[in-house]
Amino acid sequence: MGIGSIPGATAVEAIQRFSVFNPSNGELLAELPDMRPTDAALAVDRADAAMEHWAGLTARERSDTLERWHQLILEHAGDLAAILTAEMGKPLTEAKSEISHAAAYVKWYAEEANRIYGETIPAPSTDRRLLVIKQPIGVVGAITPWNFPASMVARKISPALAAGCTVVLKPAEQTPLVAGAIFALARKAGFPDGVLNLVYASEGDAVGKELCSNAKVRKISFTGSTEVGRLLMRQCSDQIKKISFELGGNAPFIVFDDADVDAAVDGAIQAKFRNAGQTCVSANRLYVHSSVHDEFADKFIQRVNALRVRGCFAPEVAIGPLIDAHALAKIEAHVSDAVIKGGTIRCGGNRIGKSGTFFEPTVITGVTNRMRIAQEETFGPLAPIIRFDDPDEVVHTANDTIYGLAAYFYASNLKRVWRVAEALEYGMVGVNTGRMSSEAAPFGGVKQSGIGREGSRHGLEDYLELKYICVGGL
Ligand code: NAP
Repeated sequence: MGIGSIPGATAVEAIQRFSVFNPSNGELLAELPDMRPTDAALAVDRADAAMEHWAGLTARERSDTLERWHQLILEHAGDLAAILTAEMGKPLTEAKSEISHAAAYVKWYAEEANRIYGETIPAPSTDRRLLVIKQPIGVVGAITPWNFPASMVARKISPALAAGCTVVLKPAEQTPLVAGAIFALARKAGFPDGVLNLVYASEGDAVGKELCSNAKVRKISFTGSTEVGRLLMRQCSDQIKKISFELGGNAPFIVFDDADVDAAVDGAIQAKFRNAGQTCVSANRLYVHSSVHDEFADKFIQRVNALRVRGCFAPEVAIGPLIDAHALAKIEAHVSDAVIKGGTIRCGGNRIGKSGTFFEPTVITGVTNRMRIAQEETFGPLAPIIRFDDPDEVVHTANDTIYGLAAYFYASNLKRVWRVAEALEYGMVGVNTGRMSSEAAPFGGVKQSGIGREGSRHGLEDYLELKYICVGGL
């Protein structure tokens, strides 16, 4: 396949290729040009050349193009979901929901594009007028992960485009195909040449370094691990480049003694096992009050035992494969560490089959905060349950981490609901719900979980610069 036929690819030369596999069965799905830093630099040149025209269009013109893109994504939702499931492994129903979510971000920012308002400020003297206008930051380098390969792309790119920025995107090596398909639809929607540029690469570090060090790139928007985020932040520091980072998490999920236990079980199933636990907002540590611990654990384990693990095009499947062998090795290491330190496997605990990357949905009780599962992001279908007695102490323990992305708790006492929601040091708190992501709300973390927000009107601000204009001599 020639480079010209790769959907959304920039017309740059590349010789090496890399392979994309289906994690459910190891089948080869595609071979893509493995672009190098020089190719990324060419893509940046194209994006830079396109900036003036794109930023100079009216907000309505940019909005209309985004709206056409949104419609095309909806029209091709079935195909996009199938590509996503094939390369990433999540169940088809989840893939469909991710595509709707991706489309919702595009729609939201098509609308927000028309609401980039400035302000006027009362002047300190009568001969002056003080104004603030908002302008696009410039070329954006965007880097996305494999776990939500469609919605992470849409969540970054649509506010950037609405603001008037142009973009160079490097999707994750494991899941570049759905990004390519979404870019092909963008082309069809009528984005001018150079506004959107896709760089496929297996060497994320080399292309990332080019994006961070290229002076024409004015902002890096990254979603991925905290470890890589730290590295990119250092690389951006030479040029004081603007950054937006959505990084890792270690979400606590607390069930207080006044919780509706059945609702908490429902919420925990959603917050833990969606995408086989491979979400940044996945409930990583379940703290359950002693008075409801056994009831919660029994009901939860019953539900976990009923989850179907299968190749993801199978009907009614709930859990697919893990993304790769590293992910499998990490969950196995967390399980054995917990068992050595006194935890009890109540269900699951093993990989499924000799080949492939399927792991049984697993629940471990008797977990303590010393165990790796309580300290590190597991990123797999493993639920550790930690018993607690002191409601104040559990909030303190929940906050005792370098991460601050998402937290969940179940309680009914109104005073407690407010106190705990305010005390949790997280960018997002789900109260009596296991799912809270929406294009209308600001998604993002505090501490080492990130900088900036995506979604909502706040997500647009991350791609805009304020300019103060003082008109004198009046
Ligand atoms: P990752 O290893 O950090 O990779 C993310 C992206 O960065 C990929 O495109 C990867 O490219 C690229 N990359 C890797 N090393 C790089 C480097 N040295 N320089 C520049 N780019 C580099 O993370 P992941 O394993 O794909 O994703 C899982 C992590 O993402 C988890 O920690 C999860 O919590 C986090 N996440 C956060 C959010 C959020 O909104 N906060 C959302 C989703 C995921 P290659 O694929 O080529 O290596």
